[in-house]
Amino acid sequence: MNIPVESNSNLAIHTIIQLVWEQQTVSRAELSRLSGLSRSTITLNVDTLLSQGILIEKPTSEASKHARTQVAINKKLGIFVGVELDADCCEVGICNIMGSLLSLDCFSIEYTMGPEQIYDQLVTSIKNLQSTQPENQNTILGIGVGLPTPVDFQKGYAVHPAFMPGWHHYPIGDKLSQVFTCPVFVDNEVNTMAFGEAYLNQKYRGTNLLFLKLGVGIGAGMIVEGSIYRGNSGMSGNIGHIRVDNRQEPCQCGKSGCLEAIAGGNALLKKANEMATNGASPFLQQKLAENRVLKLHDLVAAIKYKDTEIITLVNESATTVGTMVGRLVMFFDPKVLVVGGALCDFGPQYIDYIRRAIIQEASPWIKSDFDVTVSRFGDSIGVIGSAMLSISMVLQHGMILEKFTR
Ligand SMILES: [Zn+2]
Repeated sequence: MNIPVESNSNLAIHTIIQLVWEQQTVSRAELSRLSGLSRSTITLNVDTLLSQGILIEKPTSEASKHARTQVAINKKLGIFVGVELDADCCEVGICNIMGSLLSLDCFSIEYTMGPEQIYDQLVTSIKNLQSTQPENQNTILGIGVGLPTPVDFQKGYAVHPAFMPGWHHYPIGDKLSQVFTCPVFVDNEVNTMAFGEAYLNQKYRGTNLLFLKLGVGIGAGMIVEGSIYRGNSGMSGNIGHIRVDNRQEPCQCGKSGCLEAIAGGNALLKKANEMATNGASPFLQQKLAENRVLKLHDLVAAIKYKDTEIITLVNESATTVGTMVGRLVMFFDPKVLVVGGALCDFGPQYIDYIRRAIIQEASPWIKSDFDVTVSRFGDSIGVIGSAMLSISMVLQHGMILEKFTR
């Protein structure tokens, strides 16, 4: 992925586009105040952007005499695609330029198939979703891809993925960019989730945010003053493989005692299977007999059924997670911890146990305004975050201008 260098002549216009995006609706006078640019520079450039169809005048539905002077980004400019590759499925979503999800698709994947087959399915899925949008509004302006592995962001590919044979340096970014003739940004999936949450929630924009994904595995994403922190080798936030004191459970990574091997979704399912088999949980024993296999939603059902053994298992795992995260909170000192992933379905008590363990670990240093909250985008945060990363990069680097003023 090559990012164009901003030229001075475009700087004012980039600044205006970014400010209008951030403010959603804004007057020329306000743009002048926020940017420090003169009124005449603002007027000239806003008029140019209006004539190019990049900005629109805010509809004057009310009689307010000031309404005519407000401008917004034209949401019908085109679309952005967000992709999230998870442990066993690929979700693809289309968003408008403001990050609102317009359409969603998902398909099952097996990494043993290798990257080519998954790539082909992904291209088909994107084309299908594109065709659901009105023809004059469905130009793809950018694609964001989240991968469940360390990623080289500049090169747009996975680096030494532990469980994805054939994906090391597989050029998914370049390939998608060639097919759809748009910029493509590839990042770790939890990084994109963290970014989506930080960018779309005005309360957290520009702050330090930690995103914790609790699913089959466990990972974290770090936002430092509004930007993704990727680390030296693209593996920042790889907390699933930090070891828990005095634990020896074997992990898929080849080590033992990893957080993921104790409190990840697969680890909990393994323990739940034992409890179903030995009769400790009669509820799950019956589920196992009916379906031959237990899934995470069976654990959610067991909690709703008030199965005390399963509730204890889940609460203990929440405490293990919270104790580890509490140490990271001490190290990183974020404004907020946002939790996402399938394990959030365990309910408010699960999150509360995580919160309590964090506070116990990080007290008395933690500030009282530190928040622990569940992602407000639910299961869609992966695709929304990936799309949001591409929107932000396209806006920041003037790629909208390139597309519309060629
Ligand atoms: Zn591990």
